[in-house]
Amino acid sequence: MISIQNVNKWYGDFQVLTDCSTEVKKGEVVVVCGPSGSGKSTLIKCVNALEPFQKGDIVVDGTSVANPKTNLPKLRSRVGMVFQHFELFPHLSITENLTIAQTKVLGRGKDEAIEKGLALLDRVGLKAHAHKHPGQLSGGQQQRVAIARALAMDPVVMLFDEPTSALDPEMVNEVLDVMVQLAQEGMTMMCVTHEMGFARKVANRVIFMDKGQIVEDCDKEAFFGDINARSERAQQFLAKIL
Ligand code: ADP
Ligand code: MG
Repeated sequence: MISIQNVNKWYGDFQVLTDCSTEVKKGEVVVVCGPSGSGKSTLIKCVNALEPFQKGDIVVDGTSVANPKTNLPKLRSRVGMVFQHFELFPHLSITENLTIAQTKVLGRGKDEAIEKGLALLDRVGLKAHAHKHPGQLSGGQQQRVAIARALAMDPVVMLFDEPTSALDPEMVNEVLDVMVQLAQEGMTMMCVTHEMGFARKVANRVIFMDKGQIVEDCDKEAFFGDINARSERAQQFLAKIL
């Protein structure tokens, strides 16, 4: 579903990604971890073409991101993205947040978009809040709305970039629960997160990045099974978060 092929990216002279390659199969959940500044956000943004890269390619469900002929807005509409800071539209109601891209990007009728949005809001346990504005919800609730908003576009994959790291601790689980449910329903997911409980529960693979490189890319069982078999950099990192 996602094939990352020798991606190299520079910001000016600074090489932020070096020869990154990996694959995410349909229905797979891949967790990406690694120190701050290692390039996790950059890599995930390259997958839905929010960041350009200079070498290599990424193919999402058969569509090449690097091919200049690719319709990038169309590709982006099929890749759900959830960020650390929710990024809901503050001046719109929750219902409007859930419907605006459905009507403007996918051309759905208003009634259909509202029905879909409310069904997803119900799924993340927030149906009663449809009329409110984002500022009236807690961080955990806003992040669940952001997940519902991404799902409203019927994405073929979902990308998460540290979706719980800006939340107060007591709100982390309500968001992880939604993500676990999505994973168990078979959604293809690439998740930057340091929530290793989530990784242990639903990840198929774990990728460890350092200094712009994919240093480890292995099955969950291998990743957590014998930490001593991991690279030194991964061990040092894991020692801090496990
Ligand atoms: P992570 O998500 O792992 O913390 P990032 O992908 O955000 O890492 O950043 C990787 C590196 O790229 C960092 O050194 C960061 O400072 C640098 N970087 C990120 N965005 C930019 C940018 N727009 N311009 C220049 N450097 C950037
Ligand atoms: Mg980041």
